[in-house]
Amino acid sequence: MITLRGIPVSPGVAIGPALVLDSEGVRIPQRRVTPEQVECEVTRLHSALAAAAFEANQTQRDITTRLGAKYGSIFAAHALIFEDPAFLADLDALVRSERFSAEYAVSRAVRDLVKAFEKEGEGTFLAWRAADLFDIEKRILKHLLGGRREPLQDLKEPVVVLARDLTPSETAVLDKNKVFAFATEHGGRTSHTAIIANAMELPAVVGLGHFLNEVSSGDTVIVDGAEGVLILEPEPAVEAQYRKARDTRLSRSGYWVVERNLPSVTADGTAIELLGNIEFPDEATACTARGAAGVGLYRTEFLYAGRDSDPSEEEHLRAYLRVIREMGEGQPVVIRTLDLGADKFVTTHGPHEPEKNPSLGVRSVRLCLRDTPLFRKQLRAILRASAFGDVRVMFPMISTLPELRKCVFLLNEVMEDLREAGEGFNPNIPVGTMIEVPSAALMAHEFAREVDFFSIGTNDLIQYTLAADRTNELVADLYSPADPAVLRLIKVVVDAARMHGTGVNVCGEMSGDPLFTPLLVGIGLRQLSLAPNNLPAVKAFVRRLNVGDAERIAAEALTLESARDVINYLLRERKRIHPEAAGGGEE
Ligand code: PEP
Ligand code: MG
Repeated sequence: MITLRGIPVSPGVAIGPALVLDSEGVRIPQRRVTPEQVECEVTRLHSALAAAAFEANQTQRDITTRLGAKYGSIFAAHALIFEDPAFLADLDALVRSERFSAEYAVSRAVRDLVKAFEKEGEGTFLAWRAADLFDIEKRILKHLLGGRREPLQDLKEPVVVLARDLTPSETAVLDKNKVFAFATEHGGRTSHTAIIANAMELPAVVGLGHFLNEVSSGDTVIVDGAEGVLILEPEPAVEAQYRKARDTRLSRSGYWVVERNLPSVTADGTAIELLGNIEFPDEATACTARGAAGVGLYRTEFLYAGRDSDPSEEEHLRAYLRVIREMGEGQPVVIRTLDLGADKFVTTHGPHEPEKNPSLGVRSVRLCLRDTPLFRKQLRAILRASAFGDVRVMFPMISTLPELRKCVFLLNEVMEDLREAGEGFNPNIPVGTMIEVPSAALMAHEFAREVDFFSIGTNDLIQYTLAADRTNELVADLYSPADPAVLRLIKVVVDAARMHGTGVNVCGEMSGDPLFTPLLVGIGLRQLSLAPNNLPAVKAFVRRLNVGDAERIAAEALTLESARDVINYLLRERKRIHPEAAGGGEE
């Protein structure tokens, strides 16, 4: 049994067989062939090995010419492994005796070799060979799998997906009936992959560091998404304990259904409006099921998930109308314009050359302002949708006032076009801006005069304030919503909004973690937008809070000097406010 700790991103316990994806996302399922297929499988294996050896010899010649014999010899060593009789015998045995598919036999044999090397050769020259072995595995698999990669969406049996990393698109197309959970070596707390996992209510842990060579497809694994734990091949007693925890959590979800109907007000009677964050129209159902007061953030760029063509204006409109219909009359739906780029979906609309710093480049509203036909198409759909409900429009990643003004100018132009065409829309549609870049937070007074509402995007605000990539587990220690610099920026924005009578909420993942609920209420927030999955737990905290108490907590937290101090302080307060609440971001 091996227990690993990573970053918890979506709560829940899952237990099941692993499906290991190699670094290029190739599935290596544990598959057996029929007795009649064994000889054919051995032949496939041998031809793949021969092709891989031929390729390695070619690479050796090429590298020797370009860089010298010393480097070329690395690939000569690879070629020798492809032809090594002992390696071949191991592979043949796995296919002939166990009837494993050629792909699975290769993956299993290579992982066994890696484990042996790492164990025996710790700190010696043998350790480096692990990386070479994965290169070797990849080369053989390339020849075996050729064009018939099995995409993740076609999984036949329920599994726990283990991968180096998953892109947001790969995550978005996972079938929840076939995937119990996932765990990845890379990734950060608020990466879009993590956000989607939470939206899909799929237990997930990211940023675990290297572990894929310790596990093979078919091994039993446990994912505890609340605690950020991955257990490989658990001992029976541990597995039994987690099964119990999983079943308790399932029965506790019934409790949240009861909470749904309770009002979101503090113990001393102040209403704290809880709205839902959604990525897909279907999630509107999760909002209504959990008693959300509307949709506070609809991340429309997820219309691009799993497709490489642009959604048409009608497709945009259809998606928006589904959300409006599900939410019902009087419920606001804040539609955020496309936030494409960086760790989200890359489209043909992005820059032609790869950027050195995509998070600081042409992403989000910057991309829309450079591609006005794309932007106008979406604005038309949003405005047309506004004829059918309480639709509000919001611009992401705004860093300067001129940028915001350009967006509003375009919105007005599109209104003019629609008016001429006789299309219905709400001419007084509320307009909001995300505050997720420090420059916008610092200019909050000026921005407050020009929009109806702010939504503080802490996911990006943290990343840009601390210069720490939200998707990079190596800087996860710096990336904290509790950092005093982040808290001060939030306060600047809330104070400015209140002074000007501008609406304000927080819609980053921070608002879904009940640990921060007293702090945010104490800073002055009366509206939060969060993943529907987290709504019941946050409401439970709201109902135990007194505003005066929350203000005292916020004032104290704002005097502290480090994220660690703030977290420790909030943990103590949490224990006092809600002693039964256990764990990190969930109940
Ligand atoms: C944020 O940055 O906090 C936010 C809500 O936007 P996204 O997570 O979609 O970047
Ligand atoms: Mg953002």
